Amino acid sequence: MNEPVALPPAAREVLKRCFGYEGFRAGQAEIIAALLAGRDSLGVMPTGAGKSLCYQVPALLLPGLTLVVSPLISLMRDQVAALRQSGVSAACLASSLSPAEYAAAVRNALAGAYKIVYVAPERLLRDDTLRIAGSVGLSLLAVDEAHCVSQWGHDFRPSYLGVREFVRLLPRRPPVAAFTATATEKVRGDIIESLALRDPYTLAVGIDRPNLYFEVQVPADKMDALLAYLRRNGGKSGIVYCATRKTVEKVAARLGREGFAATRYHAGLSGEERKRNQDDFLYDRKTVMAATNAFGMGIDKPNVSFVVHYNMPKNIESYCQEAGRAGRDGERADCVLLYSGKDVRLNRFLIENSGSGRGDGGKSPDSTAAEAQKQRSLELLKQMTFYSTTTDCLRAFILRYFGETAPGYCGKCSNCAAHFEPSDVTLDAQKIVSCVYRAAERGLSFGKAALADILRGSRNAKLLEARLDTLSTYGIMKDASAKRLRAVTDRLVERGYLLLDGAEYPVLKWSAKTREILDRERPLRLEMMLPREEAIQGARETFHAEAGGEIDAELLSRLKKLRKRVAGDANVPAYIVFADATLKDMCRKLPQTKARFLEVPGVGKVKMEQYGDRFTAEIRDFLESGAH
Ligand code: ADP
Ligand code: ZN
Repeated sequence: MNEPVALPPAAREVLKRCFGYEGFRAGQAEIIAALLAGRDSLGVMPTGAGKSLCYQVPALLLPGLTLVVSPLISLMRDQVAALRQSGVSAACLASSLSPAEYAAAVRNALAGAYKIVYVAPERLLRDDTLRIAGSVGLSLLAVDEAHCVSQWGHDFRPSYLGVREFVRLLPRRPPVAAFTATATEKVRGDIIESLALRDPYTLAVGIDRPNLYFEVQVPADKMDALLAYLRRNGGKSGIVYCATRKTVEKVAARLGREGFAATRYHAGLSGEERKRNQDDFLYDRKTVMAATNAFGMGIDKPNVSFVVHYNMPKNIESYCQEAGRAGRDGERADCVLLYSGKDVRLNRFLIENSGSGRGDGGKSPDSTAAEAQKQRSLELLKQMTFYSTTTDCLRAFILRYFGETAPGYCGKCSNCAAHFEPSDVTLDAQKIVSCVYRAAERGLSFGKAALADILRGSRNAKLLEARLDTLSTYGIMKDASAKRLRAVTDRLVERGYLLLDGAEYPVLKWSAKTREILDRERPLRLEMMLPREEAIQGARETFHAEAGGEIDAELLSRLKKLRKRVAGDANVPAYIVFADATLKDMCRKLPQTKARFLEVPGVGKVKMEQYGDRFTAEIRDFLESGAH
């Protein structure tokens, strides 16, 4: 049964007091209510939907300790820093701690000093963890990124299988809450089974992320395409995912040479360099991160404005996970895939040569399992290839892949944008009709293909023989693609600006309306199928322009600077202090007192006490200076 239960009012109080939010987002209240009522839960919620609050709010309301299983250290570190900023006592048990820090964390946990403890899955079955869980009493066990328990998932981690054993060893079984951003029906089933969830309250919030713009490019040169994209992107922060370390090196080096603040991340770098580069990115010292997929699991940086895939990933799940790191803060962001057929061959090669189990006659259970895994991987790769080459709406493709229904047109992806759009064709149209005119002066007329040849300056023998290269309009559209020239001609005929007429075969002639084209003062705009790149760029820019609005850019920039100073003092990334959305709300609400400051979404009691004075003073100063 999946009946929702009522939410205790205390949950809203905690939401406001600790996190500064007025209301729950879709799905949060239901899951929190189920957990508070002692029921297992499975939440399938897209990135940025607010999964963390689903277990953090109950954690603060329940008597004992909440343990959170989380796959990556950086994620835990971030979450703990954010919780501490909000006045919640939290810690993580991970290999990144020094032995002394680790011992202290265990001691504090045993003494009941924490409400929330994050733990890496490999550490669950250790004595320390079991001792803490046994003696303090777990009120809740939360499993983040729960798809890691599924072999059908894109990120299977054997250590996740230990969760079930861990729960079995507990003196008293707490409710178990599993969360994931992407789960097909198969993966969902796996999660329930492998974690041994008991009749979980299951809630899947639609996975659509309306703030993401999806785009596939098939560029002749990926590096050029990447540079062009970055140049138009105004120094925003983002990730460029590459398939191999070598490509990461190449991309990072080139971006550096081109003057971008770029850094790199892959498994071939020392742990020290990885950490440094990752921090440079998180703390906004570097804006572009070139990385393999080793980067990101657990990267919770909310202000990632774009994720460009320099190579096609091996399945839709990985793609969504990686691309989904864009726009976690709800701001508009781009997910761009640079596709080439080579990517498919590379992935195929990697899959076919993966695993051991080869050369043992293929009959052992191991090799059968490996073979089955390979077949699954190839099937997933096929779907990824379909995404990269489809002409249908990209968003719809993804939603349907994950079993959701979707309209066939979203208007916010490159395929939707590649449809017809009004485009200024004045100059092209004038050249085309002039050519028809010049030919007619010599008593000649041509079909569309021959006319295009003349305009594009073809060296076609027949054309040269007829001395058409002496026409004054010969070659005046050298740079236009044949496709575009043809499209404009078609449209002119359609609108009656040219006639198509002829006894033997159709030739182009002037019509009564043709003169209008030459005499035109206003631009002639016709619905054109634009070359993809143009259309895509236009649509992407419109998508971002719409998101602007009545925010004073100067105030926002002042608040950002203040945030940076405050974050520097506290030694945390800027987004841990306040999200961009929170700063924008300050620009709208212009709070000048601490009471008003508390009304800004994202400002809780502790942050109000900590930062209220400085931010309200900055706003007051801005208003008094009359700069607005
Ligand atoms: P997820 O883990 O689902 O990707 P997070 O838990 O990191 O998402 O939340 C994403 C962002 O949304 C965070 O900045 C968080 O503070 C914010 N958020 C979560 N719940 C709410 C809410 N009810 N109201 C406003 N903002 C929220
Ligand atoms: Zn679309």
